[in-house]
Amino acid sequence: MSRTPASGGTCPRCRTGELLAVLRLPHTWTNASGRLVRGVGEVHLCARCDPGHPIVAYFAVHGLARPEHADLLARLLHDWADHALPPVPDENVLWAEADAWRKGEL
Ligand SMILES: [Zn+2]
Repeated sequence: MSRTPASGGTCPRCRTGELLAVLRLPHTWTNASGRLVRGVGEVHLCARCDPGHPIVAYFAVHGLARPEHADLLARLLHDWADHALPPVPDENVLWAEADAWRKGEL
């Protein structure tokens, strides 16, 4: 897991929620020309986007991690990391970003 989210601590999905954890996973995909592309995908745990997650519930109740709950938090983080999947690239977002770049908007 990363200590410093690439987005600077704000969730890239909702752009308002606090990131509680970031997991960086290597993954590959095939681009439009059929070439294999290797990358790193981030999986985020956000206080706003993931309201049903036990880690989010923990921080909603306690605010901060408490030393006496270290084992519980470690188990919850391991469980989250074990089930996290790298994000699938959204072609619409990629095309919109490429279009914005061509127009000089980036
Ligand atoms: Zn979010």
